[in-house]
Amino acid sequence: IVPMRVQKFLARAGVASRRRSEDLMTAGRVCVNGEVVTELGAKVDPRVDTVTVDGREVRLTDGPVTIMLNKPCGFITTMSDPYGRACVAELVPSDDYPGLFPVGRLDTDTSGLLLFSTDGELGNSLLHPRHHVDKTYEACVQGRISDEALQTLRDGVELDDGVTSPAAVTLVSRSKEKSRITLVIHEGRTRQVRRMCQKVGHPVLELHRAQFGPLTLGDLPEGSWRELTKAEVESLR
Ligand code: URA
Repeated sequence: IVPMRVQKFLARAGVASRRRSEDLMTAGRVCVNGEVVTELGAKVDPRVDTVTVDGREVRLTDGPVTIMLNKPCGFITTMSDPYGRACVAELVPSDDYPGLFPVGRLDTDTSGLLLFSTDGELGNSLLHPRHHVDKTYEACVQGRISDEALQTLRDGVELDDGVTSPAAVTLVSRSKEKSRITLVIHEGRTRQVRRMCQKVGHPVLELHRAQFGPLTLGDLPEGSWRELTKAEVESLR
């Protein structure tokens, strides 16, 4: 796979998406062996060429890659879809990182933090129930939620696949039409938050995952991804 286009090299090195890397090139911020390269078709051989952005050397990180996506609603969590539906693979650099797979799943209508990794071991350990990764969801539910319903969500809700574990649930706001709540759960059952809220009489209108373990989206725009830092990957182990 060498040599490769400069923008692909930069994306693989975690500098920016390919598109943003092209902007960096056009802006004259990228040098190959000391020469500014603005031509988008230019190639580099990572084994011999030195690439810099704003004068700082960029190297390919070999080894596994883990990224976070701020998933918009409307995308299914798969890397391909036989029916041609919009899937999250379109939003992440799957060509640049062969073997990238989603760590867990968000429903099509759920937005927010979704991890992807080429590190199968990390993926499996994060998905293992014993690992108990806390996930924070912001839900907008139909109707004015009662204190009693909130307490039921906290204590455990009787679902078809068993009672849910205790959850931290906070009320953000409530009106006659709708209520906003935050839930922290560590289980990862299919459509769990939606089923929990439905069961206590408040169907979910909107659902967003704000946090996965110690990771938050920060100012990552919806539809964008970024590579995790080494420290962030370590914080997941
Ligand atoms: N719970 C849900 O109901 N849906 C999600 O996407 C994630 C958690």
